[in-house]
Amino acid sequence: MANLGIPGNTIEVLQKYNFNFQKKFGQNFLIDTRVLEKIVSAADITKDDMVLEIGPGIGTMTQYLCEAAREVVAIEIDKNLIPILEDTLSAYDNVSIINEDVLKVDIKALADEKNGGRPIKVVANLPYYITTPIIMGLFEADVPLKSITIMVQKEVAYRMKEGPGSKDYGALSLAVQYYSDPEIIAEVPPNCFIPRPNVASMVIKLNKCETKKVEVKDEALMFRLIRLSFNQRRKTLKNSLTNGGLPVDKETIGNVIKELFDNESIRGEALTLSDFAALSDKLKEYIK
Ligand code: SAM
Repeated sequence: MANLGIPGNTIEVLQKYNFNFQKKFGQNFLIDTRVLEKIVSAADITKDDMVLEIGPGIGTMTQYLCEAAREVVAIEIDKNLIPILEDTLSAYDNVSIINEDVLKVDIKALADEKNGGRPIKVVANLPYYITTPIIMGLFEADVPLKSITIMVQKEVAYRMKEGPGSKDYGALSLAVQYYSDPEIIAEVPPNCFIPRPNVASMVIKLNKCETKKVEVKDEALMFRLIRLSFNQRRKTLKNSLTNGGLPVDKETIGNVIKELFDNESIRGEALTLSDFAALSDKLKEYIK
């Protein structure tokens, strides 16, 4: 099968199958060989690797992944794409396609079954409407992971990468940075896709940390505090936490904040990951 990174070949396949793009599935297919090469090279794939691709589309990136990896598993929700994938990937015997919503698949079990529980590499040009649940799902389900190399909306890439002091810093930054070291790979303009998306895109690689960056007694409590702190950015940390339904009274929350940060009117957006871990551990002492 011809290289689908070349626009004419993609158009031929789309016409052959009379394919209708489904907006609800975030379908924007890559048609730029340089971008495809850049993604696959950034993902650093070898013949030892099992790669999970989320949303293969018509199999454009899958072809590159099959060349580089030992084994590729691709999960695609749109049943209309399955016969197309069988055609475009017919030259490869190291790929399996799962016709399912990725959010419903037990990826940890898949990695155990197909890779003996060793870390897998995830590569995807993500459907933008579910970027956050996909990434958080992979991290929180404790999937054995080496890295996630993904195309996301440009502003989402910045949100993952930024630290305190930036307008893009928020709950997603802290969650991604708790589990991984993010690395921006490349900006990708809309004309590299068919159809063109309305937003600029970016490839970002999340290198999973082998050891936890911060130690925290109750991970769930820390993430609850993080979400509460960024729910209403303009409020002080004390007010955000007081109104968040935590089983701790306002005075105690105020005292803990003052003790840790020497400033009772600090905002959540000024806190680092270690600060949130310290806050969580301290407040936990008051939660029975
Ligand atoms: N990888 C292809 C490429 O780069 O040309 C297609 C990328 S397109 C941005 C996103 C793909 O994800 C589409 O094929 C879409 O049907 C699929 N998709 C959307 N939601 C999905 C879900 N919940 N589970 C699995 N695949 C999904």
